[in-house]
Amino acid sequence: MDKAKDIAYGSDVFNEKAMREYLAKDTAEALLHTMRDHTPLDPSIANEVAHALKQWGMDRGATHFTHWFQPLTGSTAEKHDAFFEPAGMAETLARFSGKNLIMGEPDASSFPSGGLRRTFEARGYTAWDVTSPVFVKRHSNGATLCIPTVFCSYTGEVLDKKTPLLRSMQALDRAARKLMACFGEPEGHASITLGAEQEYFLVDKALWARRPDLVQCGRTLFGASPARTQQLEDHYFGSIKPRVLAFMEEVERELWRLGIPAKTRHNETAPAQFELAPMFEELNLAVDHNMLIMETLRNVADRHGFVCLLHEKPFAGINGSGKHNNWSVAYNGKNLLEPGGNPQENAIFLAVLASIVRAVDLHADILRAATATLGNEGRLGALEAPPAIISIFLGEDLSAVLRRIEEGTASQTGGKTPKLRIGVDTLPPLPRDVTDRNRTSPFAFTGNKFEFRAPGASQNCSSVCMVLNTIVAESMETLAASIAKLPKARFHEGLGKILRAVFKDHKRVLFDGDGYSAEWVAEAARRGLPNLRTVPEALAPLTDERNLALFAAQGVLMPTEMHARHDVFIDEYDRKVRLEGKVALEIARGMIEPAVAHELKSLAQTLNAMRDAGLDAGTGSLRETARGLGDWLDRLHAACAALEARLGGATTDIQSAMAEVRMAADTLETLVDDARWPLPKYRDMLAIH
Ligand code: ADP
Ligand code: MG
Repeated sequence: MDKAKDIAYGSDVFNEKAMREYLAKDTAEALLHTMRDHTPLDPSIANEVAHALKQWGMDRGATHFTHWFQPLTGSTAEKHDAFFEPAGMAETLARFSGKNLIMGEPDASSFPSGGLRRTFEARGYTAWDVTSPVFVKRHSNGATLCIPTVFCSYTGEVLDKKTPLLRSMQALDRAARKLMACFGEPEGHASITLGAEQEYFLVDKALWARRPDLVQCGRTLFGASPARTQQLEDHYFGSIKPRVLAFMEEVERELWRLGIPAKTRHNETAPAQFELAPMFEELNLAVDHNMLIMETLRNVADRHGFVCLLHEKPFAGINGSGKHNNWSVAYNGKNLLEPGGNPQENAIFLAVLASIVRAVDLHADILRAATATLGNEGRLGALEAPPAIISIFLGEDLSAVLRRIEEGTASQTGGKTPKLRIGVDTLPPLPRDVTDRNRTSPFAFTGNKFEFRAPGASQNCSSVCMVLNTIVAESMETLAASIAKLPKARFHEGLGKILRAVFKDHKRVLFDGDGYSAEWVAEAARRGLPNLRTVPEALAPLTDERNLALFAAQGVLMPTEMHARHDVFIDEYDRKVRLEGKVALEIARGMIEPAVAHELKSLAQTLNAMRDAGLDAGTGSLRETARGLGDWLDRLHAACAALEARLGGATTDIQSAMAEVRMAADTLETLVDDARWPLPKYRDMLAIH
């Protein structure tokens, strides 16, 4: 086992150090320039870079290369090609050209495209995303050189999740430059940062293998709540069991080798639930890294006799798993969401904040759409999870600042936190350190970033960040257009007025209270905030004229691409609900009903034996138990018939029929002899030994 000092951070990434070692000086500079400044790759260096990459990869045991991409399925995809090509009699030559590096053509006809790529022209192309470094993935018996790529159709339409993310980053960069220009900031570059906290469950592999629902759907479709789950809340931040720690340590070592800055690890609220959080990074890289984190968690779990569940709601009745997206924008290296140290910085902070508040209020529907998956449908609004209603938490201090701006009483001071004067009479002083914490808000300001908590644990972060970038870009552009018109002499007064109008118009989206409460659901309805509970409802805004126009205007997704995504996501939801329905039926009929029949048979035999032996005491109780079992068996049987009849119908009908089946099955679980129950129970799966 490696000692701490032997951990080679980033040793499997083609980073600056590797470039300088494997490339001529000029080529290394050109490539670094391309990566840093997002300029196109000079094709004349492609062959040399490819050659160096092959050498570097082979030095790490790589025999194959792959274009690593992120199709609309939500996972990553790869098709491996060996470096070796035949060269005469029984000889091979390791070959990897600039052409192989820059562009690939996977046989991609089975990836979802929403009709963008008909099968007769099924070609899809992958192209190197130079801004994300090449890395080597190690397996038990070899290694693969992975080239992060985008994936598009023959006609140039987007078929993946990376391309719109990159486009949205450009849109936000463009908009931030306009806004910063209004404040006389030197021309520069906006960089968007993401720190994605990843929650997951671990279950014993042997138990997992005996649960067809976990194996096929990633979640349990049955399972009565055990007496003790998380009521005692003693798991959260508790000491980590040695077996789990051994797993975590191996995960971290793998991640560090890939240059992924895994930072914190801890137990989460539910038993058998954990979290891994990396240090934040530039958005595109952070998204790629989160994809690798999920893959690494799964692979390493397997080696430790675990299965890592990334499903948003693997167990009913206890906490689900989310992925908190901590997001911010920096300009010329300075975080725009950090209340600054001088009047200029604070005026900028308020303008950026206003842009975000406006964006989230105006486009809550499309932000919600980005979190709409079947898994997350079971999580949002259940127990610990934020509701499907999108609102913003700003904290007491910042909310007070906004109130004063809105009331026009900006220059009055007050409150207990140390204040920063921002030197503009129309704008109030800002609190220096915003440390309030509210865990129930889907979108919370946490001092120097926003934490979007609605996304699900298994989601690709690019979906939500792409939307966030796009809506904030539109908002910054709109604000910049009004600020740019202000006469110089009345700049601060005018700015105050603009901010006041924005906060006033959009304050309905601000909510600092308990986001999990029933009162908030009612209050949000009064405020006219959307509460889109189911996936089909939540996805519908993807094809609204308003959103089609927004994404086209920002150059992120064209209407055909938006429609295609809508169709792909609806189709995926539909297929998954039907699969769940079928699996529930198989388990109920093939495992649960027979177990109940055996239980009844055994009770009947016992009753007969007691009668023969002339025993009387207890027979009444056993008869009652048998009657109860029989009644619930009848209910289960009827519910199964109803489910079967609805399998070809509407998804909501399938889901309500499944709930009936589950209710009967979970009740039976509490009545049947433990030893006879065919499925590992919640209490077994949630206890790690
Ligand atoms: P929490 O209290 O939610 O655990 P932390 O302060 O530990 O929050 O940070 C959570 C995540 O936020 C980490 O991944 C961290 O790197 C990230 N983060 C911190 N600052 C920024 C930033 N400016 N932009 C994006 N993410 C950030
Ligand atoms: Mg958090």
